Amino acid sequence: MATTPRTVLSAQRVSRLRPAFEALLDQRADAERLQHDPLRVPTRYADPADQEIAAVFAALLGYGRVSAFLPVIEAIMAQADAVGGPRAFIEGFDTDDAAGLLPMRYRWNNGIDFVLLAAGLRRVIAAHDRLGAVIEGAWRKSHRSIRPALSAMVATLRAAVLAAAPEHGVPAAEFSDLPRGTRTLLSSPDSGSACKRWNMLLRWMIRTESPDLGIWTLPASSLVLPLDTHTHKLAWLLGLTRRSDGSWKTAQEITRNLARLDPTDPIKYDFALAHLGISGGCRKERIPSICDACAMVSVCQVGAP
Ligand code: SF4
Repeated sequence: MATTPRTVLSAQRVSRLRPAFEALLDQRADAERLQHDPLRVPTRYADPADQEIAAVFAALLGYGRVSAFLPVIEAIMAQADAVGGPRAFIEGFDTDDAAGLLPMRYRWNNGIDFVLLAAGLRRVIAAHDRLGAVIEGAWRKSHRSIRPALSAMVATLRAAVLAAAPEHGVPAAEFSDLPRGTRTLLSSPDSGSACKRWNMLLRWMIRTESPDLGIWTLPASSLVLPLDTHTHKLAWLLGLTRRSDGSWKTAQEITRNLARLDPTDPIKYDFALAHLGISGGCRKERIPSICDACAMVSVCQVGAP
């Protein structure tokens, strides 16, 4: 089977991309992008303990259309706020709280998935105080490598969800016995998938630059691009990869090339790049009224006249 050649940016290409990305950052204010981003939910809280819990729900439900998933995340947080905020909600999570979550739905996730996630988080918090403590410990044990550290964090959360499942009427002996929606929430990089939602959570929790929260103590240089169909296509248009599969390997290749622009913070442009697809109007083809005003037009394979 033919393999896709590895994409390695030339120094000249790097020197053209960097100012274009910087212009993209400046094109819109973070506050404007946040209005259409799940990160707006955790940034509302001042306490990092609340931010962590809100961020897990916001990141894991952050798939599909923003206008469809934001009301679901907001509804879960409204229930949490009624009992003192996300952290207090998880610390005291019981069957009464579960009854409030059960009627909620979002695409392939049903209320039981949110219940099991909350019940699993309760166990993780009780054992480790913070979810961040799990990945920080795993990071040190895995010789400072992000993929095994993330795998270990997901494995810890999966085990906690599995242990809590019978308390909520789900008799599961193995991860494969859990509802399909719960399993999709808890995808692992061990499967080779790009794990967009986990990498988005890691960006929020690790980067210290606005608009990210910077409350987990791993270096920003370790982060991997949260790859979805939008960022993948944009990365292709910008010559950052020629790989067509939406895998962890593709996310890694794009990240490696972005690291040529800033090795200490390779995904500093992710927020702006993602919003070029989400709300910036990019159609991934030349639309003169859009492309002629786009900061990336000089480096885009299809945008130039
Ligand atoms: S120039 Fe056009 S196609 Fe290229 S990234 Fe910008 S909006 Fe998208």
